[in-house]
Amino acid sequence: MPRRRPAQLRADSIYRRPLDGSTSVISGLSARGLKAIAYLERTRLWNQAVFDALRTWSWFVRHPWHRLWDPTAGCGVMECCPNPPELRWILDVAVAVLPPTDARTLRKQIAALDELW
Ligand SMILES: [Zn+2]
Repeated sequence: MPRRRPAQLRADSIYRRPLDGSTSVISGLSARGLKAIAYLERTRLWNQAVFDALRTWSWFVRHPWHRLWDPTAGCGVMECCPNPPELRWILDVAVAVLPPTDARTLRKQIAALDELW
């Protein structure tokens, strides 16, 4: 099989500059784990989806009214009126695509937040 030209490789790689900061950077995760999240965000979610979900969940569980959450109210914007099942879905998907060690690290971060509920 002939070698492909570097420019062609660069052009068709979905992994192109996966760690350029446009996708989530979660503290404690390995470069491999961050690449898995970058791939997830570029193919299935959106840039920063996992970081936003983690940050929003962290804010939400600390909010004094979080237990009064009403699924029928709110504007639907994640940062303004977060929908807990949606946040948890994003975090669960992120855990599922991570290599085992990183999955454990992220699960621990989420569990620490859950303790605040
Ligand atoms: Zn809102």
